[in-house]
Amino acid sequence: MEATALNETAKIISQAQKEGRKALLETEAKTICMEYGIPVTKFKLAKNVGEAVEFAEQLGYPVVLKIVSPDILHKSDSGGVIVNLKSKTEVQDAYGKTLENAKRYKATAKIAGVLVQEMAPQSTEVIVGAVKDPQFGQTLMFGLGGVFVEILKDVTFKIAPITREDAREMVTGIKAYPLLKGYRNTPATDVDAILNILLNASRLVMDNPQIKELDLNPVLAYEKGAKTVDARIILE
Ligand code: ADP
Ligand code: MG
Repeated sequence: MEATALNETAKIISQAQKEGRKALLETEAKTICMEYGIPVTKFKLAKNVGEAVEFAEQLGYPVVLKIVSPDILHKSDSGGVIVNLKSKTEVQDAYGKTLENAKRYKATAKIAGVLVQEMAPQSTEVIVGAVKDPQFGQTLMFGLGGVFVEILKDVTFKIAPITREDAREMVTGIKAYPLLKGYRNTPATDVDAILNILLNASRLVMDNPQIKELDLNPVLAYEKGAKTVDARIILE
């Protein structure tokens, strides 16, 4: 493939602005992530059920299917995420289901297609985010996924741009940090991989001041490496 430099991000953002869209599609947000060296699950956008099966076979089972719609921001709320599909028939069924569920959730929702993506093995889920604070500008956030962020509010913040040392303080600063260091039969996660994502996210939002919110939720953290399975970007 040709080197794309940092052109894809600018193109995606200006195209969305032209169309009056504030929320980027998952495909767009992940393409931007890739340009900034943030690892994401492999994906392909299917426009029909035949393509969905073709892409699933290219990626290898199991796969995940997700609805892609500018009108559906929280995909699982709409029944738009179906994980762990292991065969052609499961993909065919799930393809129909995601579309049906989307229609039921919001009859007028425009559908860009159905995203077929590699299924990332389960692991500790972390969240890397950024918000543009009216006073401090781009501000990064880190926490563990699920209840840790939503209920316990166990998160750390730093104003961008951040250094590697800042990133390390964000990660070690959460109360749940011992969980990342490994416990019982859960192995330690690759903290360096998480630091790289934080640093790249910092670069991404500093380079693109039109971004109001970045939400990598979740990022699966492994013994070796980390992978973003969902990315959301909201423009000003
Ligand atoms: P949304 O946040 O819009 O509801 P997500 O893309 O985050 O949708 O999907 C919901 C959940 O499904 C995720 O939090 C994650 O647990 C799981 N999931 C989504 N995509 C994948 C994937 N590619 N591999 C493994 N799990 C996934
Ligand atoms: Mg998500």
